[in-house]
Amino acid sequence: MVNAWLQRRRRHVLGWAVTALLTAFVGLLLVRGDIAARREVFQAEARSAHRLLSQRMAQHEAILATLALNAPSEAAGTVELPLPAGYPQLLSAQRVPLGPRTGGPSDAPSVYRVEPVDESSGRYALVTVHRGFVYRLVIDARRLLQDDDWPWSPDGPVRVALALQGAGTLLQAGAEPALRPAGLTEGFRFTQRLASESQAFELRAQRWTGPAEWPWGWLAVAAVASSVLVLLLFKALALRRERERAAERERLSKVARLNTLGELAAGMAHELNQPLTAILSGTQAALRLLKEAQQEAGGEGPGQALPALELAAAQARRAAEVVARLRGLVKSPALGPVAAPVDLAAQVRGLLEVLAPDLRARHIAAVLRGQVSPVRADPVALEQILHNLLTNAMQALERGPAFDRSITVTLQERPGWVDCLVADNGPGLPPDQPTKIFEPFFTTRDEGLGLGLSLCQTLAQAMGGQLSGEAGSPRGALFRLSLPTNDTGTSEPRQKNPSPRRS
Ligand code: ADP
Repeated sequence: MVNAWLQRRRRHVLGWAVTALLTAFVGLLLVRGDIAARREVFQAEARSAHRLLSQRMAQHEAILATLALNAPSEAAGTVELPLPAGYPQLLSAQRVPLGPRTGGPSDAPSVYRVEPVDESSGRYALVTVHRGFVYRLVIDARRLLQDDDWPWSPDGPVRVALALQGAGTLLQAGAEPALRPAGLTEGFRFTQRLASESQAFELRAQRWTGPAEWPWGWLAVAAVASSVLVLLLFKALALRRERERAAERERLSKVARLNTLGELAAGMAHELNQPLTAILSGTQAALRLLKEAQQEAGGEGPGQALPALELAAAQARRAAEVVARLRGLVKSPALGPVAAPVDLAAQVRGLLEVLAPDLRARHIAAVLRGQVSPVRADPVALEQILHNLLTNAMQALERGPAFDRSITVTLQERPGWVDCLVADNGPGLPPDQPTKIFEPFFTTRDEGLGLGLSLCQTLAQAMGGQLSGEAGSPRGALFRLSLPTNDTGTSEPRQKNPSPRRS
């Protein structure tokens, strides 16, 4: 059931499969290209974020150094230092006395360190020691990003964190329009230490990506373009196939016309031979009788009729000679130069393929069953026989109901022989005429010549085979073509097949 459907829709199924494959292939290329481009953009943005944060860290050191240098040297105890404007991430700055002064008044602090990061608040302190004081700059890492140069929007798909010795703080959570990583990629990642000795945080950026971000518009265009391409390709192939079929049909009908002409000449020669002989002998007898009557009458009598009868006899003789020459001409028809091994199944399959449009147009289902050894035959003659039998079956089926028309070609083998049974479920052979259908000029069709089967039989016999017709089961007609298998024939090719044509 499914098989039959697939068989009928083979071309469609193949078309859809090729379209799907092509679309998948082009789609994969598009998606991969798109992912690669987005990865490239992400990496560039990450490098820019890294540069920006590294600059921030250097600024923090510079600010702390400036605070240390500008701090009032006299004040004792913990002192809150004024923060410069324009740095929202700086929360506070303090100076705490440490002990005896070290270094000169103009020496800038040179060693900085970071106090442990508070993961929950995202705060850390940059600390330095200068001339007996500890300077502490408290920084809110989460506010580092408030900058027009920051490449990623806070509600965008990128997750950003800063990590230091296991502790880290999340700068940006990353929203989820980009969904989860889905199959083709695990998302993009960027991990690099900031270019700062004191605040050697590791910048970790991660961007999820997935089907939601695929270039669906282009994928749709690719699908449509693939379908159109495959459609055009299949149309072109079908056109070429149709042209080949038409050429093949033309060749077959040329051969058929030639063969039919031979059969026609043989038939006519056969049919005309007897009446011509009868006319000639009748005319000669009449001539003889007239001459005798004239002699008996002493030269008197219907002597004027003699030249007319002699003319009739001469013309009858001439016609008989023409017919005899014609018979001689068609006695050895060119059935093909050699008998060769022929794969019968392949030949039937090829013919069914050539006749496919005609079969389709007439709603006829044609099947081939069986596989046999090669037969010894003239390929052209064999093709001619099969073509005639299939065409006859198609013509017969045209007279039956359109919903139930079938032709079955069955190949069977028995010792030394191969049988090819061509059966149809049409109206069947004319009753009581099982052999008459093989006679030349016997036809029941208005436009028939009645030479097809006669020609088939001639060709089959010339190849050492047989052709017979019988009633099909449960209905229709069945033609049995029997041919010798290749191994039963001589291995030498025959130059010309003997003709069994009537003479
Ligand atoms: P034509 O096809 O010109 O009539 P053929 O020699 O091919 O000549 O066929 C002779 C006759 O045999 C046909 O007119 C038809 O009556 C009969 N015949 C041949 N094949 C079939 C068939 N498959 N089913 C029924 N009748 C057939």
